[in-house]
Amino acid sequence: MTSQETGRAERPTRFILQWHITHRCNLSCVHCYQKDTAYSASPADFTEILDKYERFLKAGNYYGYVYLTGGEPLVHPAFFTLLEELRRRQLLFCVLSNGTLIDSRAANRIAWYGAEFVQVSLDGTREIHDRIRGKGAFDRALRGIDELTALEVPVLVSFTAQKGNTECFPELAKICSEHRVRKLWWDRVVTDTPEETEKLALSTAEFQAFVKQAQRLNRKYRRRDGSSLVSCERSLQFIGNRRADFCYTCHAGQDMITILADGSLMPCRRLPFTIGNIHDGELEALLSSDPLMEKLKHPPVPEGCLACAHADTCRGGAKCVTYGQTGSLFGKDVNCFL
Ligand code: SF4
Ligand code: SF4
Repeated sequence: MTSQETGRAERPTRFILQWHITHRCNLSCVHCYQKDTAYSASPADFTEILDKYERFLKAGNYYGYVYLTGGEPLVHPAFFTLLEELRRRQLLFCVLSNGTLIDSRAANRIAWYGAEFVQVSLDGTREIHDRIRGKGAFDRALRGIDELTALEVPVLVSFTAQKGNTECFPELAKICSEHRVRKLWWDRVVTDTPEETEKLALSTAEFQAFVKQAQRLNRKYRRRDGSSLVSCERSLQFIGNRRADFCYTCHAGQDMITILADGSLMPCRRLPFTIGNIHDGELEALLSSDPLMEKLKHPPVPEGCLACAHADTCRGGAKCVTYGQTGSLFGKDVNCFL
C-alpha cells in the first residue's frame, strides 16, 4: 500500500554520505587504503557538495547523515568551519578519526557543534596499535577518547582485525570499558594484493575463532538495557550467535555513498570502484545513470549461498573483503564458515 493510499506520509529513510574531506593524515598506518595524499576539499567544495546532497535528500525523501573522515579529518584547516556549516544546515553528522589530534579544545568544539558520535580507530593495546599506526599513537588516541567522554560525546572505537592483533582484543575491550567507550566494533582488514592478503588477512579458521571470541565478549560486556560494549553487527558476525536477531547486509550501493576529497564518488570506500565525480552533476543523476550502482542495489545471491538460510539478507557477506582477495564482487564471502 502506498502513502497515497494510506493517507500517511512515508517516513524518510536514512542516506549516509561518507565524506573524505582530505586525503592527508598525520599518521601512516600499515593497512591504510589511502595511497594518495594530495587532495583536500576546498570551502567552495563544501558548499557545492552539501547543496547537492541536500537536494538529493529532498528529492528522495531521505534524511541525511554525514560521516566526516579522511585521511584524518582534523588535519583539514577548515574542519571546524565545516562543522559550523553542518550545524547551520541541521544535518546530522559524526566524525571518524584516528583520535590523536583531539585535545581539550578540539573536543569542546566537536561537542559544541553537536557531533552525534566520534569514532576513534584503535587496532590493539599500546604496543600493537603503535606498531601499526606509529609510536605514541595509542596514548594520544586514548587522550582524545577521554576528552570526548568527559564532555559526554559518545565514542565508538573501531578495530580492524588482522594478522597479529586479534589476541589483544579482550584487553582492548577492558580498556574501552574503563574509558567509557560506547561501542567497540570491529571488521576485517581489506586487502588488495595477494602480498597484502598473505601478510595481513585472517584465514577462515582464524576469523571463525575471532568471531567466537567477540561473541563471548559481547555477552560479557552486555548492559542492563540489552546493548553491549562489544558489537557483533558486521558481516558474518551473527553466525552461531543464538541471540542475534539481525543479519548484516552490505550497504554498498544501497543507502550510502562515499565522496573523496577530489570529488570522486564510490559505492563504498572499501570497494575500489569510482562511479563518477560529484563536480560533474547532480548526485541523483550520477547515481542513477551508473550500471554498477544499479547492480549493487539488487545484488544477486552468490551461487555458493543459495542453500543458506541467511541468503536473502546476508547475500554473500562483505563484498570488500571478498573482492580484495578473489576479484569476485558477487561471490560468497571468502571467510564464510557456514
Ligand atoms: S553462506 Fe553466504 S549468505 Fe550464508 S552466511 Fe555465508 S556468506 Fe552469508
Ligand atoms: S563493501 Fe564492505 S565495508 Fe562496504 S558496505 Fe559492503 S561490507 Fe560494508
